[in-house]
Amino acid sequence: MDTLTPGLTRAAIWRGSAVAVEEVAIPPLAESEVLVRVRLATICGSDLHTVSGRRTSPCPSILGHESVGEVVAVGDGAPVSVGERVIWSVTVCCGTCDRCASGMTAKCRHVRKVGHEPFHGDWPLSGGYAEHILLPRGTTVVRVPDDVPDAVAAPAACATATVMAAVERAGDVWRRRVLIAGAGMLGVTAAAACRDLGADVVITDRHADRLVLAEMFGASADDGGAVDVAIDFTGSTDAVADAFARLEIGGTMVLAGSVTPGPSLAVDPERVVRQWLTLRGVHNYEPHHLHQAIGLLRRTLHSYPWESLITDPVGLGEIASALSPAPTGKLRVAVAP
Ligand SMILES: [Zn+2]
Ligand SMILES: [Zn+2]
Repeated sequence: MDTLTPGLTRAAIWRGSAVAVEEVAIPPLAESEVLVRVRLATICGSDLHTVSGRRTSPCPSILGHESVGEVVAVGDGAPVSVGERVIWSVTVCCGTCDRCASGMTAKCRHVRKVGHEPFHGDWPLSGGYAEHILLPRGTTVVRVPDDVPDAVAAPAACATATVMAAVERAGDVWRRRVLIAGAGMLGVTAAAACRDLGADVVITDRHADRLVLAEMFGASADDGGAVDVAIDFTGSTDAVADAFARLEIGGTMVLAGSVTPGPSLAVDPERVVRQWLTLRGVHNYEPHHLHQAIGLLRRTLHSYPWESLITDPVGLGEIASALSPAPTGKLRVAVAP
């Protein structure tokens, strides 16, 4: 903010054909609102899909929903204090609808999402690719322990928390054989999360280099055998079918990757009946999963090379190239606004 008029910030505004860094006014904070100076943002695959046109999102908008930052101002009754280093949820819930009341805030009837809101709406500063982000009431804000680096904490709000929700949906994985389909950021994180819970983990991916990476996070080479739990992050119906076919009696399959329309999955209902199978889905996550996410990252800080998954950060001015990256060998490109 040094060279800027107070009350202004810089944000990367995605305008469909291009993304440009522009000055944006910071509005006065309402009750419970939190203003955060973004320290580091990682680029989730869904933002790459938005920019490449494979996914529709409001436009213009400020993208970015995996970030860590420092609280610089708060409205009355805010859940955190100025100076705290924090991460925050993707979803912002109303807290009053029937779904919120039943504990399904991820599916709030009035849900708004960080990094997914129109710039010309009532929440312009909604994304992490900016020097500042405004967090409305209904956002889950979690303090980051001092020993967790920014590069480890940033992916928590999408990748890690979604993984915690998916693993919870799988039920108790202790001493169970878990198959993870897809060794991207979520799959690799899920390998570590399931190992942390005492599971035996195998993982599949089309890319051999990602399998090597996953083995550094607790996964073993896949032997193609039967499994008790399968968790899909690929979104590929073929991969889901292959994993579902490997479920042991009483097995559970969790789908987390199928977030765009695709071919239907053929399920043999007799097999589901006779083999006591369970098929579950998960999309977004609940506040406790964000707390679990930072807990996992801290607990395994020295067990797994989390920071090695992230590139060295580029500045906000390089956001356009960061959003259409050449292969980096890393699972996340980082931006330090
Ligand atoms: Zn994401
Ligand atoms: Zn609601």
